[in-house]
Amino acid sequence: MARFITLCSSSGGNSTYIGTATEGVLIDAGTNNKQLTLALHNAGISDESIKAIFLTHEHGDHISALKVFAGKRNIPVYATGGTLSGLMNLGLLDGRFPYEKLMNEGVSIGNMHISHFPTSHDAKESCGYVIELPDRRVGVCTDTGKVTGEILRALGTCDMVLLESNYDETLLDFGPYTMALKARIRSDIGHMSNPLCASTARELLSMGVRRFVLGHLSRENNTPDRAFSCTNAALKHTGAEEGRDYILDVAPVGSMDKCIIF
Ligand SMILES: [Zn+2]
Ligand SMILES: [Zn+2]
Repeated sequence: MARFITLCSSSGGNSTYIGTATEGVLIDAGTNNKQLTLALHNAGISDESIKAIFLTHEHGDHISALKVFAGKRNIPVYATGGTLSGLMNLGLLDGRFPYEKLMNEGVSIGNMHISHFPTSHDAKESCGYVIELPDRRVGVCTDTGKVTGEILRALGTCDMVLLESNYDETLLDFGPYTMALKARIRSDIGHMSNPLCASTARELLSMGVRRFVLGHLSRENNTPDRAFSCTNAALKHTGAEEGRDYILDVAPVGSMDKCIIF
């Protein structure tokens, strides 16, 4: 059985375990070593099960636990060349953990194959991932200001997709952020709004994806209810029924596990 566990998911920190009970990878390593260790322990995943960490990009909410977490366990880290250069600039590639640049053909680890696709974000070379497990395909797509055809083609092959649903447009408009930060978030190299997430999920449903988890919600500019309602309405609008034609979940905001066995 496949395990999909969001260990933390919000603009404050992101990390997701994808694999089986005994073999898997982490996508990103946000928050800190203590919280990630605790979240994995609570989910019943041992250190030995984590075969590698794949990074989407070098922003703090995706790498803040990397130095200690990967260093202590000597876990190999995979990232694009751009992300690795970002880590180098941050002084993180100092021999604490092994690392490797992602190649176009992807990476095979044990019974898994991991491939990546470019996202549109204000980082050096951000990406999303498709993780092929023996009997499931899982996609992860966060931190992108637009959803390209390439992203849809990659995610459309998956059984389950973790999609960013970062902000509610009204909450962002009237929220505490500066005009510059609001513009950055809304831009093509920012984040996915609830409506963009909803239209993406609708497209993916038509391509055969049946299970959606919404993540990377902003604490300031979104709520789990707003994110859920927006995407659920779009999926229902196609005539599909929740529970029968699709399953929709929202990852808890902050450092709380959500474990889906499927
Ligand atoms: Zn980012
Ligand atoms: Zn992020």
